[in-house]
Amino acid sequence: KGKLYLVPTPIGNLDDMTFRALAILKEVDLIAAEDTRHSGLLLQHFQIKRPLVSLHEHNYAKRVPELIAKLNSGLSVAQISDAGMPSISDPGHELVLAAIKNQIDVISLPGPSAGITALIASGLSAEKFTFIGFLPRKNSEQKRELEKLKLIETTLIFYESPFRIAKTLNNIQLVFGADTKVVLARELTKKFESYYRGTVADALVFLQQNTARGEYVLLVEKIPEKTIFSARSLIQRIEQDIKKGT
Ligand code: SAM
Repeated sequence: KGKLYLVPTPIGNLDDMTFRALAILKEVDLIAAEDTRHSGLLLQHFQIKRPLVSLHEHNYAKRVPELIAKLNSGLSVAQISDAGMPSISDPGHELVLAAIKNQIDVISLPGPSAGITALIASGLSAEKFTFIGFLPRKNSEQKRELEKLKLIETTLIFYESPFRIAKTLNNIQLVFGADTKVVLARELTKKFESYYRGTVADALVFLQQNTARGEYVLLVEKIPEKTIFSARSLIQRIEQDIKKGT
């Protein structure tokens, strides 16, 4: 049987292509890409000339069995998405599932992914985190989803478009509170890479003054309720000490 390789591609800066990703893309029999035109340009840049087929949410039902048949016959396949890691808010999962069912080796290559890249520079806890990706677009559904996340006590990682980020921050403020710490990680690895760190209320003011542009990872600090309580009691104690003049 052939092997299925899951190959990460850059999230902006082409220099983030790894040596191993290039080697695998050059040696496989077939590359399955989310968008063949988009990936065609990347492959052209790196002078990779392997056959390309599309694999996305509208054709996977037909395409996955075709690719599995090729893998079963001994051909190797690399899967790539438009940017970053396949399967992370991108197509990929169905092919992986089918490969596992068919006892085909699935090899995941490490590489860029926007959420993790943003997390470790955000300053929010990276010890425990929950990746959510895109929230539902519809306002009522988005709020319902955020309500469900209220109990989670880890850093939350969202993907968001510049057109919806203010609306999403507004709902985060409504559901989690105005003091919630957020980080907006924008245009990672690209020319206008920037981080905004502050409360959700401040971030909303910031976005009124600076039009949202480019790609965003939105990170949210979810402090355990008990930490908030102990912080409050500590502040009360300090205030009492100040009053007493100690
Ligand atoms: N598979 C990708 C990954 O591993 O990160 C994610 C693909 S998802 C369709 C695209 C979203 O990822 C964008 O809308 C944005 O939220 C985020 N993203 C991708 N590249 C980014 C970048 N360079 N800077 C900030 N966010 C980025």
